[in-house]
Amino acid sequence: LENLASALAGVVGGDQVFAEAEIGDRYRIDFTRKYASRPAFLVRPATAEEVAGVVKVAAERGVPVTVVGGQTSTVGGAVPADGGIALSLERMNRIMEIDPVSMTMTVDAGCLLQNVQDAAEGAGMLLPLDLGSRGSATIGGVIGTNAGGNRVLRWGMTRDMVIGLEAVLADGSIVSSLTKMLKDNAGYNWKHLLIGSEGTLGVVVRAVLRLRPLPTSRQTALLAINTFEECALILRRLEQAMSGRLSSFELMWEEFYTRMTEGQLPDRPRPLPLGHAYYALVEAMGCDRESDEAQFERALEELLGEGLVQNAVIAQSDREREALWAVREDMMRGIETMRPLAGYDISMSLSDMPAFVEMARSNITAVYPHAKITFYGHAGDGNLHALVGVGAIDAQIVHQLDTCVFDAVRAVNGSISAEHGIGTSRAPFMSWSRTPEELRLMQLLKNALDPGNILNRGKMLDAWAAAGKPG
Ligand SMILES: Cc1cc2nc3c(=O)[nH]c(=O)nc-3n(C[C@H](O)[C@H](O)[C@H](O)COP(=O)(O)OP(=O)(O)OC[C@H]3O[C@@H](n4cnc5c(N)ncnc54)[C@H](O)[C@@H]3O)c2cc1C
Repeated sequence: LENLASALAGVVGGDQVFAEAEIGDRYRIDFTRKYASRPAFLVRPATAEEVAGVVKVAAERGVPVTVVGGQTSTVGGAVPADGGIALSLERMNRIMEIDPVSMTMTVDAGCLLQNVQDAAEGAGMLLPLDLGSRGSATIGGVIGTNAGGNRVLRWGMTRDMVIGLEAVLADGSIVSSLTKMLKDNAGYNWKHLLIGSEGTLGVVVRAVLRLRPLPTSRQTALLAINTFEECALILRRLEQAMSGRLSSFELMWEEFYTRMTEGQLPDRPRPLPLGHAYYALVEAMGCDRESDEAQFERALEELLGEGLVQNAVIAQSDREREALWAVREDMMRGIETMRPLAGYDISMSLSDMPAFVEMARSNITAVYPHAKITFYGHAGDGNLHALVGVGAIDAQIVHQLDTCVFDAVRAVNGSISAEHGIGTSRAPFMSWSRTPEELRLMQLLKNALDPGNILNRGKMLDAWAAAGKPG
């Protein structure tokens, strides 16, 4: 260990290498506090060259390296291997350039998402990526997980916003393509291999992100709806009526709306009365306030007139908009009565969503008749979250609940992970979303790019193998 410590200190300086006893919780315990470890060292490099040096030292000694971002993936993805190196890029937090002509920004991977969003906005542009964890999640983390969020419906996932990438590979080499070109078909587009690879194929150190014109008008409404079929119809009708301006369609099942608004009552009144099967938070963005508002109101009036929407409230100010978004995002008190919780982040085609919900609910209640279950999520993208509380939690209960939920996912050919990745928690069920051939291809890629298996050892395919490659 001493030898490793001095080799690492030789790369980043002794004051940026921390031994096990000095490592703070945020580097070794994730947001949910369900996953924790004991890395031997925390290392905080300041440049891509230093990251490369650290990876080289690790590769020579076969020591695992895990990049630690904001620890918000919730699947244990950034919890370092025991005895390994926790690599934090928090000192690499520069916004290198904002280019208003190409509409790009070049940033270090250690930047916080919110800081990057603010810098883009300050320059009169929009980085459309937006998540509830914006204040903690890092650019490296959102690229590592290919994060989605609240505006995928209009602008896509992180993958759609990364134009250029610089990364350190498992042998310590730096591969760089910090291009600002939207189009580049000169051979394999390797950056897409790294995006969403959860730090198992390379360490992202810098990225060029695509920006959009900053919308100057924003319309937000909460709708009460009676059936899922009507929800799906309303989504498509709004997309058409808004001429592509619809950026969010967040759906909340009745139990979710009831619980969250109950928990929020000390802070704000319930925006719409209870009693409807679904509540949809919809948002459109544009650049012509007067006509955008008129278009939005006209579309909602039509839906109300036709009886598709039962009730609606439109935000009249930023404060009211925040209050509507809080129904969906301010969940801490609402979920208190459900704890301890198991949470899910799954996806499927919109048409399969009602069948999935029914099946997942019946699978769970067959085992736990008194389970508290609630569904909500980025339904416009086919992405649902489920929260389940059965009064207690341990590894066996988690496995049983996972089986109930993922069995329903499998039945509709869905994905066990829409956004957060596999980490360790989803790994035993990988083969319920991926064919044997797909898993074999993934393993081939991992072996080719990281033959010593040092990058985020123990996650994703490793964790699936450790679970006995079930399925
Ligand atoms: C309240 C809340 C709301 C959320 N909402 C959403 C949402 O709407 N949409 C969504 O997609 N996710 C959401 N998430 C999940 C999470 O915020 C995202 O997965 C985010 O991208 C993780 O960023 P992070 O910096 O915390 O990464 P971490 O959790 O630290 O790391 C995630 C993975 O990326 C790897 N990684 C980190 N940095 C790098 C790097 N530089 N190079 C290579 N690999 C790296 C890690 O090793 C790990 O495997 C939410 C989480 C919370 C807690």
